[in-house]
Amino acid sequence: MTRFAPSHRSRLRRWLAAATAVLLPLLGAGLAVPGSAAASVPTTAEQAYYDVTSPSTTAAGLATDLTRRGYDVLEGPLTHGVPILATAADAQRLRHRGLTVHYAGPLYQPVASTFRAAAGTYYGGYHTAAGHEDHNRQVASAHPDLVVLRGIGQSWLKTQSSGGHDIQALCITKIKAGDCATTSGGSKPKFTLMAQMHARELATGELAYMWIDYLVNNYGANADVTRLMDTTELWVIPIANPDGVDIVSSNSTRPVSQRKNAHDNGCSGTGRGVDLNRNSSYHWDVNQGTKCSETYPGTNAASEPETQGIQNFLAGIYRDTKPSADFSPATTDTTGTFLTLHSYAELDIYPYGWTNSLAPNNNDLRTIATAMSQSNHYDVVHGDGGLNYFAPGATDDWIYGTRGVPGYTIEVGPDTSGCSGFFPRYSCMSSFWSLNRPAFLTLANAAAHPYPTGH
Ligand SMILES: [Zn+2]
Repeated sequence: MTRFAPSHRSRLRRWLAAATAVLLPLLGAGLAVPGSAAASVPTTAEQAYYDVTSPSTTAAGLATDLTRRGYDVLEGPLTHGVPILATAADAQRLRHRGLTVHYAGPLYQPVASTFRAAAGTYYGGYHTAAGHEDHNRQVASAHPDLVVLRGIGQSWLKTQSSGGHDIQALCITKIKAGDCATTSGGSKPKFTLMAQMHARELATGELAYMWIDYLVNNYGANADVTRLMDTTELWVIPIANPDGVDIVSSNSTRPVSQRKNAHDNGCSGTGRGVDLNRNSSYHWDVNQGTKCSETYPGTNAASEPETQGIQNFLAGIYRDTKPSADFSPATTDTTGTFLTLHSYAELDIYPYGWTNSLAPNNNDLRTIATAMSQSNHYDVVHGDGGLNYFAPGATDDWIYGTRGVPGYTIEVGPDTSGCSGFFPRYSCMSSFWSLNRPAFLTLANAAAHPYPTGH
C-alpha cells in the first residue's frame, strides 16, 4: 500500500524531543513492580490508541505540544491525526481543549481462551526475560560447536541487588580458535542483532529468538546459512532491557506498557526509568525529556548499567575505523554491521538520527538500508524524517559515530491492521519473521565489507 508522506509518519515515537514534559496521571498504565499483578478487567482507565487533530495547528506542531504535555505520542500516519496512547479520560480531556480525538483501536488483542502459556511465555506466546535466558542456555548447551553465551553487563535492578538480570549475548558461528572473543582481534567480521531495548516492543525480542533458532537449526542444512556461519560471527542480544521486560510481562494477558528500564526515579507507573535509546554517550542530549517522560535520557550520558554493558561490549568486539569528528568517514576497510530492533512503523533507519546532515559514509549506509527494504518493504529514512525531531543518544548513531560500524534500526510492524501496535497478536510473528529474516541476512552478509565506495 502506498502511504502518504512516508517521511512524515516516520519519527514521532523515535524522534520526539520533549523539551519539557509534564506527565499525565498514568491511570491504569500498569504497576511498575516486577512480579506484581495488574488488573485484568478493562476499565475506563485502560489505555487505547487515539488519533488527535487540531483545527488550528499542524500535525507536527500538535505532536510537539502533546509531547510537551506528557502524552505518549506514537509513530503513525498523520493523515488521521497525531497518534497517541491514552486513557479514555485523557481523550475526553483533549476534547474539552477543543481538539478532535478519534478512537483508533485497542492496545490489546484478545488472547484466545484456549491459550495456555508454556513456561516462560505470556500474551499468547511471547517469551519473558527468563524464558529468553532459558532458551539462550539451552541453545548454547545443545550446540557447543556453534554458540557461546556471555554476560555483557547488568540491569539496573541487579546493580541495586534487587533481583534483576545479567544482559546476555550469544555469539553464533562455526567456532574456530579465536572466535567469539570480546575483543576485536578475531578473524571473522561481526554482525550484532539487538532487541527489546524498549521493553514494550514485544515483537522485537521474539524476532531475536527466532533468528537464534534459525541460525543453529540451519547450519549444515541451508547452504547460505552455513556459509554465513563459517565466515561471520553473528552476535545476538535478545533482551537489552530485561528489567523493563519483567514489568511488561507482569500481566500475562494485558502487558504493561513499559518502554524504559526500571531505574527508580520517583516517577509512578510507566514513568519510571530511563530511555535506554536516548542514554548512549554519542550526542547525548539532556533536553530529550524530563524524568517521567518516555524519552528521559537519564542524568548523564551512559548513566545506566544496561547502556554501559552494551557499549563496552560493542566497543570491545568492533574495531574502531572512524575518526571521532562527526563528519569524518569510516575507512573502507571497516568490517561489521549492527542492528537494533524497535517497533512499530515499518521503517529501515540508517545514520544519522541526531541531525539531518548526511553521514560521511551516507551512500554506502543508504545502499545497505535500501537492500534491507527490498525484503521488508519498509520506508528507508534517516535524520528527522522531515519533522525536526531527532533521536540523539540512540544506539545506532553511537556505534556508527564512535566506531564507524554501520548501525541500523528496523521499526517492525505496521501502523494499522490487526498486527499494528506494541502488542500485536502472537500470530503476527510469522509475517514479521518472513518479512525481516531476509533483511537480517542482508545486514549479516554486509558485515564483511560494508563500505565498498567509501562515500
Ligand atoms: Zn523503540
